Amino acid sequence: KLDFAGKIAKRLGAPVREEIVHAVDGVNLSIRKGEVVGLVGESGCGKSTLGRVVAGIMPPSEGTVLWRGTDVNALTGAAKKEAQLRAQMIFQDPYASLNPRMKVQDIVGEAPLVHGITTRGGFDEYVDEQIRRAGLDPAFKKRYPHQFSGGQRQRIGIARALAVKPEFIVCDEAVAALDVSIQAQILNLFMKLRAELDLTYLFISHDLGVVEHLSDRVVIMYLGRVVEQAPSEEVFARPNHPYTSSLLSSVPRIEARKRAFAVVQGEIPSPLNPPSGCHFHPRCPHATERCKVEVPKLREIAPGHFSACHLNG
Ligand code: SF4
Repeated sequence: KLDFAGKIAKRLGAPVREEIVHAVDGVNLSIRKGEVVGLVGESGCGKSTLGRVVAGIMPPSEGTVLWRGTDVNALTGAAKKEAQLRAQMIFQDPYASLNPRMKVQDIVGEAPLVHGITTRGGFDEYVDEQIRRAGLDPAFKKRYPHQFSGGQRQRIGIARALAVKPEFIVCDEAVAALDVSIQAQILNLFMKLRAELDLTYLFISHDLGVVEHLSDRVVIMYLGRVVEQAPSEEVFARPNHPYTSSLLSSVPRIEARKRAFAVVQGEIPSPLNPPSGCHFHPRCPHATERCKVEVPKLREIAPGHFSACHLNG
């Protein structure tokens, strides 16, 4: 992959060195129906790439994505379309993904009309239902995205996703750009929709505090690898991996955690040239010589609790 300067150089015809970045490396993640999995890590750790792969937006360069036991990238025709509709993605910046020239009713209703989920005759009623479900007033459906606030635009994005009757939704930093009070409203909406529609979520965030009350299970990623995963309560009560501990220290509401762990130091290294052995070793206060050369395996250290750290033996 080329960085920005590399792309410019290539366009100008200058010789450049292309490198393959393994944004996600050796990740094995299963999500059960009805579950909410929180995927957490700093920007550049590969969580958005993993989200796009599991949502079917991006095929993996290696490996498979199984939907009910079937490899989605091997599907064709109607079966592929069906799988694509069943998994939807909601992004951080809904404005960027909403066509500014389309009215809300068309943004929400276009895909269901194209895919035969609704008809011309039932269009208005169907669109109103989705808009109402996302917490907006259908009276505003003839307006354009720029006429709404950030929180309202995110609700339009949610209505659009719901309109194709998904079973699984990947939320990629879906509340990161919103004010805290609006964040809470949108998070509550996600949970209400989960109960009403039996939805399954992969909730991607750089902020452990955001996923704390939302997730049944939390997965922590660092530089393309899963370093810890466990039921949510377990991660917050008994974090094992030093990286998880340092992330927890930046969740401000829990005083005891602040005292117990040091905030993670330094910048996340470039995925173009990740550190050897345990990728976290340059920033880890417990690193030893072994950590520099040997990749720690993800091991089950308690029922359902996995961690990849040499401190576990
Ligand atoms: Fe730290 Fe070593 Fe554990 Fe990596 S394997 S988190 S460097 S102690």
